[in-house]
Amino acid sequence: MIPGLMQTTPLMISGILTYAAQAHGAREIVSRLIDEPVWRYDYAGLARRAAQLAHALKRLGVKAGDRVTSLAWNTHRHLELFYAVPGIGAVLHTANPRLFDEQIVYTINHAESGVLFFDRNFLPLVERIAAQLTTVKTFVMLSDAERTERGSIGAASYETLIADELEAYPWPSFDENAGAFLCYTSGTTGDPKGVLYSHRAVVLHAMAGGLNSAFGFTAFDVVMPCSSLYHATAWGLPFSAPICGAKLVLPADKMDGASLHQLIEGEGVTFTGGVPTIWTMYLDWLERNGQAPTALKRVVIGGSAVPRAMAEAFKRRYDVQTLQIWGMTETCPIGVVSTPTPSLAALGEAAMDEAIWTRQGRLQFGIELKVETETGAEAPWDGETSGALLVRGPWVVRRYFRKDEDAARPDGWFDTGDIATLDAHGFMRITDRQKDVIKSGGEWISSIDLENIAVGCPGVKIAAVIGVPHPKWEERPLLVIEPHDGVEVGKDAVLAFLAPRIVKWWTPDDVVFARVPLTATGKIDKKVLREAWRGHLMG
Ligand code: ADP
Repeated sequence: MIPGLMQTTPLMISGILTYAAQAHGAREIVSRLIDEPVWRYDYAGLARRAAQLAHALKRLGVKAGDRVTSLAWNTHRHLELFYAVPGIGAVLHTANPRLFDEQIVYTINHAESGVLFFDRNFLPLVERIAAQLTTVKTFVMLSDAERTERGSIGAASYETLIADELEAYPWPSFDENAGAFLCYTSGTTGDPKGVLYSHRAVVLHAMAGGLNSAFGFTAFDVVMPCSSLYHATAWGLPFSAPICGAKLVLPADKMDGASLHQLIEGEGVTFTGGVPTIWTMYLDWLERNGQAPTALKRVVIGGSAVPRAMAEAFKRRYDVQTLQIWGMTETCPIGVVSTPTPSLAALGEAAMDEAIWTRQGRLQFGIELKVETETGAEAPWDGETSGALLVRGPWVVRRYFRKDEDAARPDGWFDTGDIATLDAHGFMRITDRQKDVIKSGGEWISSIDLENIAVGCPGVKIAAVIGVPHPKWEERPLLVIEPHDGVEVGKDAVLAFLAPRIVKWWTPDDVVFARVPLTATGKIDKKVLREAWRGHLMG
């Protein structure tokens, strides 16, 4: 080997900020806040305030490698933490406020954070858990001076903290493999596990996210992340938008249809994204109120399978394209994205829609995929052979934080816990999570496929399918339905809707109507459902 003779400039998150301030300095950032008026500034303003925050962090004694926790919604102040904390070489642990108290405590203690920044409406939560936090010394409320309440924890005001600091910071350059963000999995089984993203992973992931095979941003786009900043950095949108010079709109915690529509229309949002539950509510709101988005072109949806009926409604009613994304905390999180290709377009629009709406997405440069069958052999890319989905690449976890053993195999492959197929076009389709698969008489039934069809039945808001113990077949599918508010849906109507769309032996043994519980990351909580309905088919 002969060494290359190019520069080895490390990939730094602060580099994104510096670039955006220079190249797109006047491009706007708009942020809703919990109880303050809408905030407006631009990338140059973000760079100034992130610099002030960096000085303030230094003053608080935060050093390179230290951890700082945020408990916060999608706001400009949280965005400032996204740049300032890794910018000085520290690590931002984005705690998930929807976890149980003890899990939040566990993650903050496990991260060994010295400072906790929190939004005003988390004050009761922070006061409740403060005594159990073993390393936090400083509490800062993400609020202006007048609204800050010191509470029993003696919280400082964010605005007071940064007010007198210099508006420029000499961002240091260091090893690009240094840790930058610490994100925990939601711990549906066992304690949450920490995934420590490096600068290199975040920057490469953000560059890949901006590509046309993924989100394909231009400087004319107006991007509104509705996936939470605390959940795997909102799919890297706070980084890929500035890299591409897109305007950024932050909705805080207001995810109801009316609030979202107001921002979408008022700010000319062209691109937004979030988990399916948000778009179920938004589509329902649009229909009930006879409204339609005007500038919106694309919605990226992931975290759970996108119901086909949702993608179809966006396209047919509002001319909005749905991009499905599959990923996980362990993959920063982008794994695949469903964008069109010429070979699919050649099949005609209907066939292309069908292919795109029924698959999670296609292979992206930078992340390798493979499916392994039960024998450990690699499955062919035939769209039919299913098995364990493995991933590998520069933004895939190697080892969980503070664990002694690698999570990935020595050759880098990481088992995602999902079951999938890969096809000749490079598209991946998830059939289930390994732990959710329904085993009926030695055959597998895909809960995701059944849910996807059932949710298309008129009046159905959420459809959840679980495997329930059965005296003869080991397990059989039970369909739990949560209808839209004020709508009546009957069992016979649901079964009649399913009949022509599925093979007979997949027919759920029963259909029940109940509220469907969701996890801290907005997914159907099948563990709770299985627990609640386990005896239902045992007679
Ligand atoms: P958690 O498991 O902690 O809720 P993650 O966001 O890391 O948080 O979850 C990742 C999992 O979510 C994936 O392994 C997969 O099972 C599921 N998932 C994500 N996106 C999709 C999608 N588009 N379709 C189906 N399942 C998805």
